[in-house]
Amino acid sequence: MSIDKIVMREPGWDADLEAVSSGGGIPTPGPGQVTVALEASGVCHRDLIDRAGRIPFLMTPIVPGHEGVGRVVAVGEGAAEWTVGDRVATLHRDACGSCQSCQAGETSLCQSGAFVLGLIADGTYARHIVTTCNALYTADAAMESGMAATLHCTFGTAWRSLITVGGLNHGERVLITGANGGVGMAAVQIAARRAREVVAVVRREGHEESLKALGATQVLVSPDNRFHYSVAPVDLALDCVGTPTFNAALRSLRVGGRVVVVGNVTDERSSVNLGLLITMGKSVLGPGGANRADMAACLAEHRREPFTSVVTSSLPLDQADAAQRRLLAGGHHGRMVLKM
Ligand SMILES: [Zn+2]
Ligand SMILES: [Zn+2]
Repeated sequence: MSIDKIVMREPGWDADLEAVSSGGGIPTPGPGQVTVALEASGVCHRDLIDRAGRIPFLMTPIVPGHEGVGRVVAVGEGAAEWTVGDRVATLHRDACGSCQSCQAGETSLCQSGAFVLGLIADGTYARHIVTTCNALYTADAAMESGMAATLHCTFGTAWRSLITVGGLNHGERVLITGANGGVGMAAVQIAARRAREVVAVVRREGHEESLKALGATQVLVSPDNRFHYSVAPVDLALDCVGTPTFNAALRSLRVGGRVVVVGNVTDERSSVNLGLLITMGKSVLGPGGANRADMAACLAEHRREPFTSVVTSSLPLDQADAAQRRLLAGGHHGRMVLKM
């Protein structure tokens, strides 16, 4: 019998993720929900954070994953926003629609949405997902399924970080850490269309050629994360790694520069020299996830000038555990996806 979904019984790496067959069939959506037959799911660094049990509101057992694309196959009562056959992709979570953030259009910063895929609600490592309507956005009809599944968490995150929150201006100098990861490879492309220079920072050799092909003007290999000594000051930094690179990214900024943080790959906390913020006017910004408006803008740019997919490997659904362990080992170039 074929595998229907992958289940994490409890956090941690001692036990493998479990491949489960529930006998097929389409799960019935509840009020305000739809069922989506998934084509693909991304395997994201956040899935590793979830699995490590670093997020206190994780509920287990749970189906991991928050990056899916597919077609609506069933519509629940009061879910008329979507129609059977629509191609949709997941946002990370739902939104209440009525709080201060939602009223301002900032649905990814909703103060009461609680349907967080892979943490509270069953996620995308499955043939079907049942979600609330507003945890979805309209996917591109023609985009390859792996790219479409990961678009929100890679290009969407990069778009929101660089453009919506980071305020990237034409002609600026941009630095991107973890540039060989999914968000990094997307960010290099988005930045290269606007910035005067894009400095891509990686920890290991072997990524130079591909990052230059995506538009990086300089690729810095920095195994010790002391790259701030060898980079000319930048206007905007996107830190896709976290604590190992955060302070070097902050120190790479010009006076008045800004760093947007999107990576959190290790569990150490960062410490900050507050003087860099106070006297040098540097800003540290957190983006939140991309919302529907960010995705619409990102997709519009893709239609004008197509992005290069950051998906570098795809595995069948039943290889989910192996995929996560490969990502955990580090140094992976681009994104892995699970194909249903
Ligand atoms: Zn993700
Ligand atoms: Zn809200």
